[in-house]
Amino acid sequence: MIEIDRKHLENLLQEEELLFHKKHPESFRLYQRARQSLQGGVPMLWMIRWAGTFPIFVKEGKGAHFVDVDGNDYIDFCLGDTGAMTGHSPDKTIEAVITQVKKGITFMLPTEDVIWVGEELQRRFGLPFWQFTLTATDANRFAIRMAREITHRKYILVFNYCYHGSVDETFITINSAGPGPRQGNLGPPVNPIETTKVIEFNDVNALEATLAPGDVACVLAEPVMTNIGIIHPEPGYHEKLRSLTEKTGTLLIIDETHTICTGPGGYTREFHLKPDMLTLGKPLAGGIPAAIYGFTKDVAERFQSSLNIEDSDVGGIGGTLAGNALSIAAMKATLQNVLTDSAYKNAIDLSIRFSQGVEAVINDYHLPWIIKRLGCRAEYWFRETPPKNGSEAFNAIDTELDRYMHLYSLNRGILMTPFHNMALMSPDSTQEDVDFHSAVFRSAVKNLLAV
Ligand code: PMP
Repeated sequence: MIEIDRKHLENLLQEEELLFHKKHPESFRLYQRARQSLQGGVPMLWMIRWAGTFPIFVKEGKGAHFVDVDGNDYIDFCLGDTGAMTGHSPDKTIEAVITQVKKGITFMLPTEDVIWVGEELQRRFGLPFWQFTLTATDANRFAIRMAREITHRKYILVFNYCYHGSVDETFITINSAGPGPRQGNLGPPVNPIETTKVIEFNDVNALEATLAPGDVACVLAEPVMTNIGIIHPEPGYHEKLRSLTEKTGTLLIIDETHTICTGPGGYTREFHLKPDMLTLGKPLAGGIPAAIYGFTKDVAERFQSSLNIEDSDVGGIGGTLAGNALSIAAMKATLQNVLTDSAYKNAIDLSIRFSQGVEAVINDYHLPWIIKRLGCRAEYWFRETPPKNGSEAFNAIDTELDRYMHLYSLNRGILMTPFHNMALMSPDSTQEDVDFHSAVFRSAVKNLLAV
């Protein structure tokens, strides 16, 4: 078994950091200036966590590439962590946005486009009723509220090391002393054990035991976990999840925000899932903020019956800008012209090619690593076998190695999704992009093992 020499890795990391500085003088200058007005020198604090000692400032992007303020060109396999899975600024979305921008952006009233979008969402995901928000976080928050309202139950259930946006109830993990706040969660309103039950993904017994008391309003689940590595459900798991939730009167919310990489109707359509509710955001409007949540007729009717329209503006489900004319126009154009069957086919084929390129290196060097894939998303992981739950994946995190692989790629013009080594393909990605990654990955590994 290959062992990584940690001292050598540390030296390589230092070399890559020096190279990073050398290649990004203008980003560094902007970063110094940004620190005078922005906390941490960034618009959102987590942006400091990118590999490299400061963030790269973007000049412009199109399709599968972007250019930074120093003139470096990048193959973008991060694609805004799925927000730009359509490729940056797709032409058809731009056209619709420009047209709508001239005709008004936000009215607090519907435009006709929203009906087309609702009908298209019915067709894609098989759920009859839809509502709109601007972020997937909000879609999840509102779906949870609806579930609590109609079941009159207190708890939600999530999987260990899930991520569903900045939804308070979801920041819970199974810690050494049992379920408790996830490490690093800031200013939680209450200890999440008061609102949430947490179990491991793929553990049918735990699922059965946890739902049995009948006090869980909903399970909020990615159909394949993607935020602690790609973790596929074991055969039969989704059938069990559906039958146990049904049996206990628990609503099943499927969060397709990342798994929309599976195909045009997400994992839900591809694998014939039957959720009570479905949430999705990020790439829906080609990068313009827009998100959705949909539900069954039964959920709609039960919710309707507890709704007092007079109070609905203060019901805790809201958003002045939600469903605005601009994001709806962008969503229509994107669903109609960009997130199409043929675009998916190109991206998925490339993701297969990407995985094969990485796998060949892993095999050639006998590395105890694996690559996992879901639709147009692929990810390599520093363990020998696929993790079956969040704990197994979390325990395989190797921060230095992760940082080295990221930075090595970045310095050679490839942006991977941060915090793990994930690559997403867009309809505009090319074989050349993918093959270039395979070559860079090979040389990163070669350096790593050349002690
Ligand atoms: N759901 C999932 C599965 C996600 O991965 C994310 C973000 N990474 C969200 C929801 C939240 O998306 P947003 O930050 O756009 O609200």
